[in-house]
Amino acid sequence: MAKTFVLGAGYAGAMAAVQLDKIAEPFTLINKTPYHTLVTLLHEAAGGRGTPTNYTVNLSDLVRRETSNIVIDEVTGIDREKRVLKTRSGQEHEYEWLVIALGWVSEYFGIPGLKEHSLVLNDLDTAIQIREHIEQQFAAYKDDPNPERLRIVVGGAGLTGVELAGELLDWLPSLSAKYGIDRSLVELQNIEAMSTILPMISESLRSEAARMLTEKGAILRTNTKIVEVTENEVHLEGGESVKARTIIWTGGVRANPLLTEAGFTVDRRGRAKVNEYLQSVDDPRIFIGGDSAWVEDENGRPLPPTAQYATQMGYVLAANVSSAIHRQPLRAFHAHNMGTLASVGPEVGVGNMFGIPVKGLAAGLAKEASKLKYLYQIGGLRLTAQKTPEIAHF
Ligand SMILES: Cc1cc2nc3c(=O)[nH]c(=O)nc-3n(C[C@H](O)[C@H](O)[C@H](O)COP(=O)(O)OP(=O)(O)OC[C@H]3O[C@@H](n4cnc5c(N)ncnc54)[C@H](O)[C@@H]3O)c2cc1C
Repeated sequence: MAKTFVLGAGYAGAMAAVQLDKIAEPFTLINKTPYHTLVTLLHEAAGGRGTPTNYTVNLSDLVRRETSNIVIDEVTGIDREKRVLKTRSGQEHEYEWLVIALGWVSEYFGIPGLKEHSLVLNDLDTAIQIREHIEQQFAAYKDDPNPERLRIVVGGAGLTGVELAGELLDWLPSLSAKYGIDRSLVELQNIEAMSTILPMISESLRSEAARMLTEKGAILRTNTKIVEVTENEVHLEGGESVKARTIIWTGGVRANPLLTEAGFTVDRRGRAKVNEYLQSVDDPRIFIGGDSAWVEDENGRPLPPTAQYATQMGYVLAANVSSAIHRQPLRAFHAHNMGTLASVGPEVGVGNMFGIPVKGLAAGLAKEASKLKYLYQIGGLRLTAQKTPEIAHF
């Protein structure tokens, strides 16, 4: 029996595991946590919506055959010469075939102090940390009425920054009421270095998203570069600084550093180069997908790191590692852009679906529908029925 490992149970790895489970191809899935995280919904968890466990799916609910093994551990090294995986618990696993889907980490672009002095939204733990940190600031304000406690800076106005800002803005009125704070004292600044927010959607929808955010009370600052962060202070290009007790960085991602450390050919964002079959250009026994992979579209442009592409890659990763094991022809990966939807709070949003622009409540509903579609894709009717009451909001 071939020793096949899937590393990471995110959008790419979990889907690969589900597909391998379906065809009874034996494999071991190694993931840091015993659950798959619905990362695209983490802003909801950070913004105080629902209980945090609503945003996870147990791995044992996804892969159930005897041929599928789950190991909860952190991969700390990939020795490609010896074909050995090293893990945090001190285990070593010999492999014959690998699927690597270890996702992403925050990119700080070398901005001094940013890593040390900001929160990030990367996984369930960091989502809970953001939620608890903001609530602690509100709770402490009564005894120490420092306005910095009520100021939140979200750095980055891409998908994550906008969705998080929108969600927090909807939470702030009830949080203020809970701690007897006048809402007008609370401030949220969303700071973006580029001239625009949400670069992946059309110009008119961007202005619509900007309007929604400002209507909800955000101070939206584009063309504003963060040059340094010190404790409770964000320094901007031009000399201005903003004092805030909550500083959250959402401005960039790069691939899991394990890929670079293992000596793969990587791009400037640390993504490992693969061929059209999602097979590493450095090793035919290794397939790589999701945000860890450097995949180019038909025009030679790298695909953006998104859950929709990671999920699509999951199917091909499973098919191709199984085909490689059984010496069958491999299948080429073709990305299908179904559109992008950005929520701006629980009910409204903007985006496009199959090229059709949607905004307001329609976009909010479309976003809800996409959650259910994903649950169905990954866990069929059983999982959809189990999780729907927890994650559906309309
Ligand atoms: C708030 C937010 C909103 C987003 N919204 C959207 C959206 O609307 N649409 C969209 O397409 N994309 C969205 N994204 C981006 C999307 O979440 C990522 O592109 C996607 O998660 C990438 O999938 P992945 O499988 O590569 O990695 P991940 O989903 O990050 O999975 C990586 C997995 O590897 C595990 N892992 C990591 N390191 C190790 C290790 N050393 N050992 C063992 N296990 C490890 C992790 O625990 C995790 O399970 C959003 C992201 C955020 C943060």
